[in-house]
Amino acid sequence: MRILIWLALFVLVILALKKKIQTVSSPEREQKPAPPAAGNGTRAGEAETMVCCAACQVYIPASEAVYKGRQTYCCEEHASQADAH
Ligand SMILES: [Zn+2]
Repeated sequence: MRILIWLALFVLVILALKKKIQTVSSPEREQKPAPPAAGNGTRAGEAETMVCCAACQVYIPASEAVYKGRQTYCCEEHASQADAH
């Protein structure tokens, strides 16, 4: 009966090794260089340029920012707020 315990242990070790191999081989995206052309699709959120909101100093992706004059804002609300001042 003891062999069953060993068998179970063996399977567990195999599964653990498999998981380890998967986690080692998966972070391929970190090795990928950032795309040279910015604004070529917003899928790559990590590599996107971040801009600072002039009203609340929150950083947002350039594609989601609201532009008003030379300033950038995180939302229309802040853009109109700054406009009113
Ligand atoms: Zn803001």
